[in-house]
Amino acid sequence: MVDSTGTLTYDVFVNDPPPQRNGRLPNGEPKRFSPTASTLIYGNRDAVLTDPGLTATQARVLGDWVAGKGRHLTDVFITHGHGDHWFAAGPLADRFGARIVATAGTIAQMRGNLAARPMLWDKLFQDIPPAAVTAVTVPGNRFAVEGHDLVMVEVGNTDTTDTSVLHVPDLGLVVAGDVIYNGCHMYTGQAVAVDGGFGPWREAIDKVEALDPRHIIAGHQDKRLDDDAKRTIEETRQYLDDAEGLLQSEKTAVDYFNAKIERYPDHVGRLVLWVSASGIYGARERPGEDARKIVAASWL
Ligand SMILES: [Zn+2]
Repeated sequence: MVDSTGTLTYDVFVNDPPPQRNGRLPNGEPKRFSPTASTLIYGNRDAVLTDPGLTATQARVLGDWVAGKGRHLTDVFITHGHGDHWFAAGPLADRFGARIVATAGTIAQMRGNLAARPMLWDKLFQDIPPAAVTAVTVPGNRFAVEGHDLVMVEVGNTDTTDTSVLHVPDLGLVVAGDVIYNGCHMYTGQAVAVDGGFGPWREAIDKVEALDPRHIIAGHQDKRLDDDAKRTIEETRQYLDDAEGLLQSEKTAVDYFNAKIERYPDHVGRLVLWVSASGIYGARERPGEDARKIVAASWL
């Protein structure tokens, strides 16, 4: 997946999900997190990296891949606050002497995810490095690599609050974080149980489409697939439409889980499908309780 115009190029690294020890899915499969993609955008000398992942091991492996490109890493961009996209940013930034950048909305969400780390992330994964929120904003949400614009575009709520994408006009590229998925089950738990539905997410997809990209790098993806913008946008919309239909027709979380797998047999990321289902049906079955807590507990 390499495209180039003049001297600007990008390449994508999809990590292996970390080991996890909290039981199995309803169909007996071991729980395993979704693969997460990092994009390197680079010219002749400099490079910018996105969403460097979660664990110390992932940071080391990704760092070796970045080092192999032989460029000077200036910035690490974070698309949204979820820890799986940035808890490994510190070691990466230290290794290369890079700055960490994000929107103000993402930085606020990073603080929230860090506060939730002991109750949530550290219960799932052993290997998360010490993390602190050191990300800074940039004027007008714009920065650059060797004179090529990199634009942070705020798209609002999608699978979490205040998400953004990175637009690289000279490459016809959008690095989409969790706004667009590619061959991977989508994290729908918060959107349905907490935010009241997919309306904001659909608007965010429209905003990505309005950037008229040719390529979209989904934050969670099956690395065997291409990065065609039209297909990934269409499939992301279709997945939300199907979820809405199945949430009406299926009576339990397990029924919904099984129905989604039947419709998407090749999708990776079934843990996220199950977590989403148990959060949504859990909140539905206990309407008096705090939906945020039910959604968070569905990970454990
Ligand atoms: Zn994610």
